[in-house]
Amino acid sequence: MKTLIELVEAYLQGKPIGKILCPKCRKHGYLSVEPRGNHYYVYIKHKDFNKQYKCYLGAVAYDYVNRYNKLGLEDALTCERHINYAIESIRNIISVLKEKRDLRGFYYENINKQYIAQKLAELKQLVSELEQLLNQ
Ligand SMILES: [Zn+2]
Repeated sequence: MKTLIELVEAYLQGKPIGKILCPKCRKHGYLSVEPRGNHYYVYIKHKDFNKQYKCYLGAVAYDYVNRYNKLGLEDALTCERHINYAIESIRNIISVLKEKRDLRGFYYENINKQYIAQKLAELKQLVSELEQLLNQ
């Protein structure tokens, strides 16, 4: 199965894309990518009998996606992307704590280490729950 970013790229190149399964409503529909300014907005358009509607999947700063963004649409049709987002987010926090810059080079002056430590405790609980679920 193609990733959503691959489908968006194909769509923007004018390639035909058949119906795809909408990750929001679980019905088939047609991909639609609507540019406005520097952003692209991704929808799945549905037609149910006479009723038309579209599910909004998200805004994409498309020019950033291939350069840096592992938090964008990449693998957005798969569940596994969430663990990748979590890992990438943690790598960003480590980078900020080490160098005051995230992986994109964005500089951070004021870092609330106490807040991060509190959230880390929550994260450890979640990781433990995740491990238990994976070992069932
Ligand atoms: Zn939908």
